[in-house]
Amino acid sequence: MKIKRYKKVNKHLNFYVNNFGFRQPYQVLLDGTFCFAALNNKINIADNIPRYLQGEVKLLTTQCAIIEMENLGPKLGGALIVLKKHAVHKCGHEGKPVPASHCLSSMLGKQNQNHYIVASQDRDLQSKIRNMVGVPLLYLHGKTPVLEQPSKASGDAVANRAGVSVLEQQMIEKLKSESGLGGNEGERPRKKKKKGPNPLSCKKKKNKAQEAGKVVKNVEVKNRVKKIRIPKHVKEILLGNKR
Ligand SMILES: [Zn+2]
Repeated sequence: MKIKRYKKVNKHLNFYVNNFGFRQPYQVLLDGTFCFAALNNKINIADNIPRYLQGEVKLLTTQCAIIEMENLGPKLGGALIVLKKHAVHKCGHEGKPVPASHCLSSMLGKQNQNHYIVASQDRDLQSKIRNMVGVPLLYLHGKTPVLEQPSKASGDAVANRAGVSVLEQQMIEKLKSESGLGGNEGERPRKKKKKGPNPLSCKKKKNKAQEAGKVVKNVEVKNRVKKIRIPKHVKEILLGNKR
């Protein structure tokens, strides 16, 4: 994948990480239409989606989505097998299944509290999601996965929350990511820490020095004694014991 595309996904994901509390592993809610498209384009979802999102991913579906595919007949048997590979999340329709699109929207609730990313080729569901706040939409464009840029509804909600315009919000996002405060970019400072002097190696040296013979040992003990100001007789006992 081209670097430009990685940057784009990162930017979109960071929007949800920074503004809606999305965290890895990202929970991707799949329906039959996505699995059908993946199969037709010979895309391995389990390989492709984590690579595209550059992070840990939990691939999920619901009982309703599976039942819908089963009802659509043997023609979709392959996609059904793909769909069934994934973990089934409880959707609350157990025993009375609803259409997959209804089911998935109900999983999102009002605020997408569980931070689902919806993976679907269903146009009705897609347009529903575009009107929702804080729901990332993933689909396949041919063989290429696409995480759609955050909906206007999401952008407006974030801007209103902060009391700033969308443009200002975008500026803030840019500054955040440049200073390493946002999402994946936030891992940079951690890397820098690792590069610094390694405190463990210093400690080890000390230990080695302590083991390195009596001379060093005695110097160390004396220093410690000075600091703690142990009475003379105790000092004698301690030093005596050491020998
Ligand atoms: Zn359901």
